Amino acid sequence: MNDIKLALRSGNPTTKVDIKTSAGTVSIGDGSCTVIAGPCSVESQEGYLEIALLLKELGVQILRGGAYKPRTSPYAFAGLGEAGLKILEEARQLTGLPVVTEVIDIRDLDLVMQSCDMIQIGSRNMQNFPLLREAGRCGHPVVLKRGMAATIEEWLLAAEYILNEGNQQVVLCERGIRTFEPLTRNTLDINAVALLKEMSHLPVLVDPSHATGRRSLVAPVALAAKAAGADGIMVEVHQRPDEALSDGSQSLNPGQFALLVSSLQGINAAVGRLAN
Ligand code: PEP
Ligand code: MN
Repeated sequence: MNDIKLALRSGNPTTKVDIKTSAGTVSIGDGSCTVIAGPCSVESQEGYLEIALLLKELGVQILRGGAYKPRTSPYAFAGLGEAGLKILEEARQLTGLPVVTEVIDIRDLDLVMQSCDMIQIGSRNMQNFPLLREAGRCGHPVVLKRGMAATIEEWLLAAEYILNEGNQQVVLCERGIRTFEPLTRNTLDINAVALLKEMSHLPVLVDPSHATGRRSLVAPVALAAKAAGADGIMVEVHQRPDEALSDGSQSLNPGQFALLVSSLQGINAAVGRLAN
């Protein structure tokens, strides 16, 4: 742990990461339970604007949606690219909500920056060191997802790359790790949530969608994450999950998501004193 200098808690309070838009500021790490939600991918203008408005009504603080998708198969839907970014801009305009989207290629960073309020570095790029350094210089808050086979130390060192470039606005997101268990897509490392809250001042989110890969497990796992001290969740929601172009099997429909949000508020009230 010797090389982790900037990410350790060292007696400090949790860093409040502020995502600013013209309509206001949303904070992660302020003791509340921040909810980031949206479909895995931005699939169409009509579909994305529809779900964005629905999610706003359901109290979501930050919209998500991938324009550049890192897919295991080169033949799978890889996102709409620049056209997807334009749709995210429209959603931001329409709802007043901030938007987070993934950047997978350093060459797209400037473009992505213009269309979103927070940059997502995905699991597959957690150790893309040039990308981490650029994200550290970019001036936007960054959500750094855990590599699917990364240790907590490697993950904190990845965060350190961003912090060391002068960007203090970093949020960690536990999204499950690969284990020997094949019945779920990944295994949520709940230990990591509690441990990171102890070890690091950076806010910690949990993504129960990629952690489980199964719609029916998303809500119980999200509630457990909140109880373990997570500062919020990032969850995939689609108006018609069975028709989604990516990750439909782990996407909630709006009704299921609404139920989750109300249960989360109960857990947050119960464990509020534990957090931070
Ligand atoms: C995603 O958020 O859609 C995604 C690809 O996540 P991860 O990088 O955690 O697999
Ligand atoms: Mn996804």
